[in-house]
Amino acid sequence: MLIAIHAGAGPVSSDLERHERESREALLRALSTARDLLEHGAAAVAVVAAAVEILEDFEGFNAGRGAALCSDGTALLSASIMRGFDRAAGAVAGLRTTKNPVAAAEAVLATDQVLLIGEPADVLAAENGVEQRPNDYFITEYAISRLREELTAESRGTVGAVCVDVNGELAAATSTGGITGQPPGRIGDSPLIGAGTWADARVAVSCTGDGEAFIRAGVARYIAALVEDGAELEQACARAIGCVSELGGTGGLIACQPERAVCMPFTTEAMPRGLWRAGADPRVWVTDSE
Ligand code: ASP
Repeated sequence: MLIAIHAGAGPVSSDLERHERESREALLRALSTARDLLEHGAAAVAVVAAAVEILEDFEGFNAGRGAALCSDGTALLSASIMRGFDRAAGAVAGLRTTKNPVAAAEAVLATDQVLLIGEPADVLAAENGVEQRPNDYFITEYAISRLREELTAESRGTVGAVCVDVNGELAAATSTGGITGQPPGRIGDSPLIGAGTWADARVAVSCTGDGEAFIRAGVARYIAALVEDGAELEQACARAIGCVSELGGTGGLIACQPERAVCMPFTTEAMPRGLWRAGADPRVWVTDSE
């Protein structure tokens, strides 16, 4: 059993340094909730959803409350989730009122559709009992200040999780507010199955970084294809991240396999992240460069 989480690849900004302790605590909260669930036999898909919800609720990360704001000052939320053994997937893009976008993605996973956008996605979430909030709920002073200062390069903090459960089954989930100052309607890689998120029977992946480059490189599915062809996880991740670099993008990802292989590469200064494996203590990195 294992759970790995990330909170976005980006620079070691002064804000990240200032909020290092709170970020560390949020990552540890997500890991310890995931560990409890795994130890009680929960399925990987439920565990990644629970971990991502905790990260969404922490306003220091760019997902749920505290999300990066669009150029018009509104929050536009996206998320995706995928279950490995049957490749069931759910994703939502352009949400405005769902408190935990990953829960909306989970609701879509239970339907015949894979990706739902805009208001109908918020409505589906509400119908499934997922809490709704006015768009103002997501907008923090901090996110407003970043929009004012046009700190697009620093607006990282997308969150994600990958997991192996007690049965060796995999799941992945990713949630984001996108990029500070993005035009309303812009959607990155995070809600796109195969780009920002992937899980099959061999590997689970959650990405963060320059969404356009991750989409064009088809990162998450590319890693799965390389693994399917016999590549080691580390080699597959390096190839995929290499493609992102060739396209001029930066970022990172977390990936895991049932045999407990985990990879967490990034090409930015930092990628806050955490890892728990059965039999070991949880570990968290925030500003560390490796
Ligand atoms: N990948 C996200 C996007 O492009 C942003 C991020 O991970 O920081 O929307």
